[in-house]
Amino acid sequence: MPETIGTSRVNAQAVLEAAKQIPTPFYIYDEQMIRDRCKQFMTMPSAFGILPRFAMKANSGKALLQIIDAEGLGIDASSLNEAKRALMAGIEPSRILLTTQEVPTGDERLELEDLLIKGLHYNACSLTQLRAVLPFAKKNSLKIGVRVHPGVGSGESVTRNTGDKYSCFGIHLSDLEQAVQLAREAAVPVTRVHVHIGSGGDPEAWRENIQRELGFIETYFPETETVNFGGGFKEARMPDEIPADIQDLGLTAKKEVEAFYTRTGRKLKTEVEPGNYIIANAGSLVCSVMDIKQTGPDGFTFVLLDGGMETITRPLLYGSRHPFTVLSKDGKVRSDEFHLDNADTQDLIVVGRCCESGDSLTLNADHSIATRPMALPEPGDFFIIGGTGAYCSSMSPFNYNSHYQAPEILLRTNNKLQVIRNQQSLAQMTVNEKELG
Ligand SMILES: *Cc1c(COP(=O)(O)O)cnc(C)c1O
Repeated sequence: MPETIGTSRVNAQAVLEAAKQIPTPFYIYDEQMIRDRCKQFMTMPSAFGILPRFAMKANSGKALLQIIDAEGLGIDASSLNEAKRALMAGIEPSRILLTTQEVPTGDERLELEDLLIKGLHYNACSLTQLRAVLPFAKKNSLKIGVRVHPGVGSGESVTRNTGDKYSCFGIHLSDLEQAVQLAREAAVPVTRVHVHIGSGGDPEAWRENIQRELGFIETYFPETETVNFGGGFKEARMPDEIPADIQDLGLTAKKEVEAFYTRTGRKLKTEVEPGNYIIANAGSLVCSVMDIKQTGPDGFTFVLLDGGMETITRPLLYGSRHPFTVLSKDGKVRSDEFHLDNADTQDLIVVGRCCESGDSLTLNADHSIATRPMALPEPGDFFIIGGTGAYCSSMSPFNYNSHYQAPEILLRTNNKLQVIRNQQSLAQMTVNEKELG
């Protein structure tokens, strides 16, 4: 049995070392893999230059943002607070594009204005947002972007399709004329057009959007200099999944942007916004096996972990599958999803410790509980869940059942480990609570 775990550089020895420094459950990230993925996007083919922006909602950890910033990527922030966290990580406002559902008012509006003056890029995502920002943009000679709702999207599940009529991200096609009119009246140039069709969908849908989006620019936006094709690049977490081909999608985009230039004489810069693809497989969640339980002769055997839906919500939310590694407490790989042929496996159900029957890591998309083959662990063993670098730490309801927000550790490129977030304390969990008067 190889001592590798999943597809990152995190191996059995790194997990054992990390577990000496922080308690389980914890997230462990592979710096080298994050850097390699960043380079893949920095060198993605493009016609007239490319700026990849990391979709920081995938993972908003400070040290991780600093790695990604150092690799030359910009930031895609989906809330004002995300933009502020990027600033706190030392990232320049001019490196950040804010694309949000929010319509800031009061103090938040003033904060947004302050950041806009400092160079933050802004994508108007509704007519309301557009009307709110135009007078300020005009007064300060700012340029803006527009997120277009293309009417067609694709996602790994219905809940991750952001482009069809069942979701409301961006200014819908049928409102574009009005949007253009508003911007023209205010004399504010729309220099960026943005479409993000969804997360983890069919790469062919991403490809098809390229031409559609360039068509919007040709029809409506004569001042646009940058086309942003969004993120959503499919990542393969499980051995049977196929990832998007970044190079190939880049070549298609390059060809289309060149054809646009031939048609119109306009040289567009390209932006893309990967989240998942940068960081999903660079992260693993390391849990401890607390208990093994069973539900009778017609029932199942359950592996009970000290981390579940409060550290990784994706299975409950989407029916997502993540690869499992069972590691004995002394560092022997009992089974690994990528080498199951060599292991002595049983069909087991894996659950967390929340009082919630849906707190399972082996769920189908319809929320039915499924079994998965793996080695039967012993209490005290490590249980490692792969593909948890994106939309886990940043997305999970971590204080449910009063569990702590989990600590995080980074495997550096020199193979040293560095704690990048401590475990939350009970005092921190309750700091804002007041006594009954
Ligand atoms: C979520 C999001 C992304 C990233 O999607 P991934 O599937 O993680 O690549 C990019 N752009 C926008 C606007 C988003 O909301």
